[in-house]
Amino acid sequence: MLELGLTGGIGSGKSTVSQRLVDKGAKLVDADQIVRDLQAPGAPVFLAMVERWGDKIIGDDGNLNRAAVAEIVFSDTDELDALNGIVHPSVVTEIARVMKELSDTDHVVINDIPLLVNKEGKSERPEYDRFKGIIVVDVPTEVAVARLVEFRGFDKEDAEARIASQASRDQRKAIADFVVDNAGSLDALDPQIDACWEWIQTLR
Ligand code: ATP
Repeated sequence: MLELGLTGGIGSGKSTVSQRLVDKGAKLVDADQIVRDLQAPGAPVFLAMVERWGDKIIGDDGNLNRAAVAEIVFSDTDELDALNGIVHPSVVTEIARVMKELSDTDHVVINDIPLLVNKEGKSERPEYDRFKGIIVVDVPTEVAVARLVEFRGFDKEDAEARIASQASRDQRKAIADFVVDNAGSLDALDPQIDACWEWIQTLR
């Protein structure tokens, strides 16, 4: 397999770009989706989180109440560290399991990892060194905010605060091997996805 990392800020268009690379033939490992699976009611990460924060993080429907978790961790770095300590190791293990299945194939494997770059601008985990390349989806902050408000129901201040709490565009671009500029329309992405796919083939 040919393994690549893909990252970008919240609302930058990571899922959109990943999906288009899947349409080209790539396999996608989506950390967000893996987290959601591990946080399904009764799943190991769900249980570990409930053990720490109690029933107040369970919604009326029995699912994780993400808003309640966000509330707890958003303004308290100790709680955020605790959450990362619960979630990260399980995600890494699950990704490793999926990777093992793909490892003997010749697939292009895209790892969609929102937090590949942290506030210090470094790759958070040494195992990411195995990527043959890193794709960064870049978008001006105002555009990301507008899309989060329009398509995701965020309020503007919340979207801005979340973006401000993440790595900066420059920090991400500093580790990029290929930058997809998603400031324009969805149509404007097509030639960039073509170019990105061609670039990926040169890495074989
Ligand atoms: P998150 O960080 O929340 O996982 P993301 O980086 O995966 O988000 P997407 O979900 O791909 O971002 O995009 C955010 C929203 O913006 C989606 O509703 C998507 O359909 C829309 N979007 C993405 N790219 C464009 C574009 N070029 N033009 C218009 N809308 C777009």
